[in-house]
Amino acid sequence: MIDVGVLGATGAVGQRFVQLLAEHPWFHLKTLTASERSAGKRYRDVVNWRLDCPFPENVGDITVSPTTPEGLSGVDLVFSALPAEIAGEVETKCAKAGIGVCSNASSHRMEPHIPLVITEVNPDHLGLIDVQRDKGTDGFIVTNPNCSTIMLVMSLSPLARFGFSDVKVATMQAISGAGFQGIPAMGIFDNVVPYIGAEEQKMETESLKIMGTLDGDHVRPAPFRVSASCNRVPVIDGHTMAVWADVKEPVEKVKSAFRDYVPPIKDLPTQPDHSLLYLDENDRPQPRLDRMRGNGMTVSVGRLREGLRYVAMGHNTIRGAAGASVLNAELIYSKKYL
Ligand code: NAP
Repeated sequence: MIDVGVLGATGAVGQRFVQLLAEHPWFHLKTLTASERSAGKRYRDVVNWRLDCPFPENVGDITVSPTTPEGLSGVDLVFSALPAEIAGEVETKCAKAGIGVCSNASSHRMEPHIPLVITEVNPDHLGLIDVQRDKGTDGFIVTNPNCSTIMLVMSLSPLARFGFSDVKVATMQAISGAGFQGIPAMGIFDNVVPYIGAEEQKMETESLKIMGTLDGDHVRPAPFRVSASCNRVPVIDGHTMAVWADVKEPVEKVKSAFRDYVPPIKDLPTQPDHSLLYLDENDRPQPRLDRMRGNGMTVSVGRLREGLRYVAMGHNTIRGAAGASVLNAELIYSKKYL
């Protein structure tokens, strides 16, 4: 067991971290941080628990710490669910203070020495932790991708062996992706918003880094192009996306690749039985019906047609954020980086 903390523990992603870590077999949840508004008070008194699962009573009496390395003494690893504007500096300070950081924030994702990892897709990129340590950082920073990028790349992973050069994706993203304060009801009920700040650029760049090749102290981006169009829709949880990829193989062969997909990593506590699941029904996947498959960690794929066209969907705050980060941390722990 190692002692861990959550930065930004009161937010949409922070609460998911608390849910996933409250009874974790390898990680003991010791420290919770938030803004100055919340610091010094009991977690149960400041958090507005909004998840559709019971509040984990065993962590309710933890006193919320300020989000500083001093507030994290005795912790070996932190999970960051901070807004990107403040995450960059705080995470760097934590890593310099000898703490491992698994981050959901976008601040460090594209930096050359910082791995951007989906456990099942590019576990070898964790080799960049050694590069960070060679450069004098006692701790480390490992990031996981933007919530829509994770669903896209998980679904592209079994297709990599066929080769493709052009991917187009149109997303239908849940409102929880904008955080608790993110989008007013008047803006999203009876509506679709065809813009999510910086989301398209993140999908277009992060995907290439994740599917790229580790080459010494950096990652060579994968040689394909992603063109994204991102939309916010009135769904609470679960990002759905229509994907077009210029794969030339017959549909049945590609369907078998989805069905037969076996991830290169297994037996981690947060890993689902099926990281990727192909659904045959012609009206699936759907967020309300399929987002909790594999405890929210399964990416569902369906509607594969000539073109090549298909639909992918996954839970954005679990598979797309906190769950992905906890899974990365389990891999890091199993590889003895902690
Ligand atoms: P959120 O609901 O707005 O939560 C923000 C958290 O950060 C709260 O705990 C808040 O504490 C804390 N915080 C705010 N300002 C702070 C400050 N100045 N100092 C210290 N703590 C501060 O946001 P979220 O949706 O959980 O997103 C968190 C991060 O994850 C973002 O970087 C986001 O881009 C990323 N992400 C989100 C999703 C998603 O689906 N939502 C998916 C992937 C990645 P108080 O309660 O005290 O204000």
